[in-house]
Amino acid sequence: MNNRYDVVIAGAGPAGAQCARDLAARGYDVVVLETESEDEFPRQSNKSTAGTFPSMMAAFGIPDDVVMQYTDSVVLESPTDHFVREQPGAVLEFADFKRYLVADGREDGAEYRFDARVTAPIMENGEIVGVTYNGDQEVYGEIVVDATGPAAPLAKKLDVVDLEHENHAIGIEYEFEGIDVDRPGFADLHDAMMLRLDHELAPGGYSWIFHTGEDTAKVGLCYIRNEQYHQYGRESYSIDDYLDHWVDTDPRLQDATRLEGKMHRGSAHIQMPGQLYTDRFMAIGDTVPTVDPLWGEGIHKCMKSGRMAAATADSCLKHGNVEPTAENLEVYETLWHRDVAPNVRARLLMTKLLYLAPDERYDRLMADLNRLDDDTLARANKGNPAAIAKLLHVDDLPLLARFAKQELTFGDLL
Ligand SMILES: Cc1cc2nc3c(=O)[nH]c(=O)nc-3n(C[C@H](O)[C@H](O)[C@H](O)COP(=O)(O)OP(=O)(O)OC[C@H]3O[C@@H](n4cnc5c(N)ncnc54)[C@H](O)[C@@H]3O)c2cc1C
Repeated sequence: MNNRYDVVIAGAGPAGAQCARDLAARGYDVVVLETESEDEFPRQSNKSTAGTFPSMMAAFGIPDDVVMQYTDSVVLESPTDHFVREQPGAVLEFADFKRYLVADGREDGAEYRFDARVTAPIMENGEIVGVTYNGDQEVYGEIVVDATGPAAPLAKKLDVVDLEHENHAIGIEYEFEGIDVDRPGFADLHDAMMLRLDHELAPGGYSWIFHTGEDTAKVGLCYIRNEQYHQYGRESYSIDDYLDHWVDTDPRLQDATRLEGKMHRGSAHIQMPGQLYTDRFMAIGDTVPTVDPLWGEGIHKCMKSGRMAAATADSCLKHGNVEPTAENLEVYETLWHRDVAPNVRARLLMTKLLYLAPDERYDRLMADLNRLDDDTLARANKGNPAAIAKLLHVDDLPLLARFAKQELTFGDLL
């Protein structure tokens, strides 16, 4: 078996598999090491609701076959109100999508090794030159990429990332049938992706219903076990209990039943990224982490990070004499902050403010969203301070004061 490659990638998620697709298309020898077995792939890593948008599908040539349901709108809900925004989207069958990325990369020559759990970097003169997997197997590359999501075995050992426990968000979801998709008193959820702000259901986080056709949908929730969680959460509740509680109390779900084997569970970190690279090494996707902190859109962002890492590797490898030193890989970090996750600091702060607000404030937010024009909302979503100010009121001062006080404690974000 070949044991030397241009690029070695750990992890066949959206980030790693996309990075491999781009490198293989450029003619590089690339191998992806994936811990799961090929027969069942993806099993534990089949974790995503996989709501995405046409921009991702077009940019990465994703075929219709992996789409469960095309959607027309995004709905935001508070405990008693909602806001509807017309916006085309797609809910993917995440397992089919992951398998497609692997198959497509292989067609261009990317090599995949399944049942290959990466454990540690192989170091020479202080630089990573390869990885060990399954204990005693070795593979070498000019450049190594960690795309294992929150596991990050290489990035952690190289001190490139510091994924902090207090920033660890957990999510769970089931696919259901028998849902009342157009219940009087609620928004019509046909062909919609709905996100709900309601601490009773997801303390310090949010819950969702993504329509997947007829009376079926993906129903889930996520939160970080942080200050907000402790303020609004119930001591004895697990994340499964919260989902049960929602199913028991929401009239839209009263006749809903879970589809067998259709449970997805996963996690990500919601924090500022670290350095992202070092000599001969880049961290991509949720190893960084790259998922958008506000609404959890990770697929598109993680694939973009894979693409930027591939472009950076290409810029070194295509000139045989440009060593992939940290200095020469620095462009990846620049591209990440410019094109993958611009304004990440502002979005993290918005996230903290949003999830700190009480339920009543969410109802008022829906009224504000319905009042403001699309342009202002788009600018607010990108972190524009003037546009965000239009969503704030005089009686938000105590909330802002609490937020400012917390931020002094969370000084790492500022
Ligand atoms: C419940 C939930 C719902 C979500 N919903 C959405 C959504 O609707 N839309 C959206 O855009 N995003 C969503 N996300 C986020 C999105 O799924 C992630 O951001 C994205 O999957 C991250 O991609 P990645 O390639 O970086 O990592 P991952 O998807 O985590 O992939 C990592 C891969 O590495 C493998 N691996 C792990 N450890 C090792 C190891 N030691 N050696 C080798 N391989 C290893 C794993 O098996 C996996 O295949 C959701 C996430 C969760 C948890």
